[in-house]
Parts: sequence; C-alpha cells; structure tokens
Amino acid sequence: MVIVGAGIVGASVAYHLARQGQHVVVVEQAHPAAGATGSSFGWISEGVPEGAPDAFLRREIVADWMRLAQEIPDLWVNWSGALSYGQAPATQNPDNRVCPPPR
Ligand SMILES: Cc1cc2nc3c(=O)[nH]c(=O)nc-3n(C[C@H](O)[C@H](O)[C@H](O)COP(=O)(O)OP(=O)(O)OC[C@H]3O[C@@H](n4cnc5c(N)ncnc54)[C@H](O)[C@@H]3O)c2cc1C
Repeated sequence: MVIVGAGIVGASVAYHLARQGQHVVVVEQAHPAAGATGSSFGWISEGVPEGAPDAFLRREIVADWMRLAQEIPDLWVNWSGALSYGQAPATQNPDNRVCPPPR
C-alpha cells in the first residue's frame, strides 16, 4: 500500500496498516511532518466538561496516546498537564480539577 504524505494522518494510517501486517510505503514530497503536523502545538487534552460534544473523542485520544507511548518506547510524549479555570462543573477525569475564574 502506498500512503501519500507523512504528516500525522499518513504516519498513523501507515503505522496501523503495518501493525496489521500490510506492506506499506509512505511517499512524502518534502520530509516527515513538513506540513501542518510540524507546526502543530502538539496539544492533546481531555479537559472539557462532561457532555461536551468532543468529550468522548478527547478521552479516547488521550488513552490512545498513552497506549502508543507504551507500544513505542522511543516515542517521547511530554505529559505536562495543564491548568484550567472556569465554571465547568466537572471533567471526565476525576483527577482533573477546575479552578474558579479569576476575579
Ligand atoms: C499552528 C498550528 C497548531 C496546531 N496545534 C494543534 C494541537 O495543538 N493539537 C492538535 O491536535 N492539532 C493541532 N493542529 C492541527 C494539526 O496540526 C493538523 O490537523 C494535523 O497536523 C494535520 O495532519 P495531516 O497529516 O492531515 O496533514 P499534514 O501534517 O499537513 O501532512 C500532509 C503531508 O503531505 C505531504 N504532501 C502533500 N501533498 C503531497 C504530494 N502530492 N506528494 C507527497 N506528499 C505530499 C506534505 O508535505 C505533508 O508532509 C495545529 C495546526 C496548526 C497549523
């Protein structure tokens, strides 16, 4: 299989196909992460209120990155955490805390 583009989408598709035993070739016009991926902030976060439209997806994404970090020991993920403030009553992760907004 030939994947065109070595951004995060192409890399992810190639990785998952290769794990299924497919022979994969990635074709890139410049270099890996030459497009939007290389300029991304690289943020992932599940810190949205429960019931938010993207809450489920965000939770899955964080879990996926944790799994990926275990599968690929050389993959460096900076689990920096974040400080959130506002009126959100709760977040998905019980370890998350929401500070009141500044006065
Ligand atoms: C400033 C900025 C900050 C961002 N911050 C975040 C963030 O914090 N968190 C987050 O989740 N998302 C963030 N995003 C969004 C995220 O970066 C993009 O959604 C994601 O990188 C898109 O990946 P992609 O693989 O679809 O595209 P790209 O990364 O653009 O990859 C496409 C690749 O295809 C190659 N290509 C194109 N045409 C051809 C061709 N004809 N032949 C061969 N190769 C070709 C390009 O050179 C490129 O390498 C941010 C985006 C920007 C711009």
